[in-house]
Amino acid sequence: LPVVGILGGGQLARMLSIAAAPLGVRTLVVDSSADACAGQVTQLLVADWNDDAALADFASQVDVVTFDFENVPAETAERLASQVGVFPAPQALAIAQDRLAEKTLFRECGLNTPEFMPVDTREDLDRALAVVGAPAILKTRRLGYDGKGQFRLRSAADADAAWEALGAPAAAHGLILEAFVPFERELSVVAVRGRHGEFRIWPLTRNWHTDGVLSLSLAPAPDTSDALHEAATAHARTLAERLNYVGVFALELFVRNGELLGNEMAPRVHNSGHWTIEGAHTSQFENHIRAVLGMPLGDTGARGCAAMFNWIGDMPDARPVLEAVDGHWHDYGKEARVGRKVGHATICAPDAGSLRERLVSIAGALGREEQAQPAVDLLG
Ligand code: ATP
Ligand code: MG
Ligand code: MG
Repeated sequence: LPVVGILGGGQLARMLSIAAAPLGVRTLVVDSSADACAGQVTQLLVADWNDDAALADFASQVDVVTFDFENVPAETAERLASQVGVFPAPQALAIAQDRLAEKTLFRECGLNTPEFMPVDTREDLDRALAVVGAPAILKTRRLGYDGKGQFRLRSAADADAAWEALGAPAAAHGLILEAFVPFERELSVVAVRGRHGEFRIWPLTRNWHTDGVLSLSLAPAPDTSDALHEAATAHARTLAERLNYVGVFALELFVRNGELLGNEMAPRVHNSGHWTIEGAHTSQFENHIRAVLGMPLGDTGARGCAAMFNWIGDMPDARPVLEAVDGHWHDYGKEARVGRKVGHATICAPDAGSLRERLVSIAGALGREEQAQPAVDLLG
């Protein structure tokens, strides 16, 4: 059996492993924690990123290496690449894990972004605020996820507080100041590129975040013109080709005055693509496994409409979803903890009207009306 090695053992590795099984593919996951939730469904090797001997042993047991976690040090990825195929390649990972390099690349590729400036010192922050303006968001260039490593500035008067929160601790990694964009909506493109350049995207997904964490996704995004769809596809394809990218990635976009702005790129399967497990002909997880092994890619078309709820902190009662027509429950087997993604549910339906009906009824039974409301409104 081919074996795909996965760096990082969270829910993405778990769902990749589950998708690999029917293809006759095994996975081997490395994580520094023995509790990593992927370890419940596949083989887990407990090791640190800087444990060269353990990683060499890992590489010798797998056919290719991929990631569940974009913040694996680039040196670790490069060292592995001298031993075994690593997809996406370490160079692509290095760009996508640095917000400054990533946004610079977006602009080079013709994708506009929020105004931004690098910030390494307290003085840089004042200079950046003068250029970017307020409100703004100060972010660590690296290692941020789920809105962590970010500070929102309402005005220049918040500069000291922002610097205190992020400047000193993150000095070694650098920061970026971005203009706060009063966007109309957030979309993501989940795309896949194969080892021979074959490229496909799933239908655009509309996303809603709460406190910087994804709360709800709806796909295909109902309010999207063909022109916007084509522009988003073209941007994703240009970036993928420029990076010689192999595997699934997500491009997060803001829509402002009808124009697309690039927020970030995730060099891995993505939370906004979880709906593809039941809502598309081929899921992002299966296509990622296919892509990294050089297999033909599967159809990325949607079967109908789908909405995905993230369960953050703790899981609600499963029953209303388990009992629903085309309702799908995912429990990652993680311990409840504030702000932590512990599971999700996807509700599918043949059309927008019936999806709306199902959402209203399921959200009511779950006591999650507020979480479902943006999708209910849009489908209505
Ligand atoms: P992820 O979990 O998606 O990797 P992250 O921690 O990398 O998240 P971002 O995607 O940069 O963080 O930001 C999280 C959310 O915060 C965005 O999806 C968006 O809703 C909001 N946000 C981020 N940057 C901006 C901005 N410049 N203007 C307006 N809103 C923003
Ligand atoms: Mg991110
Ligand atoms: Mg994001």
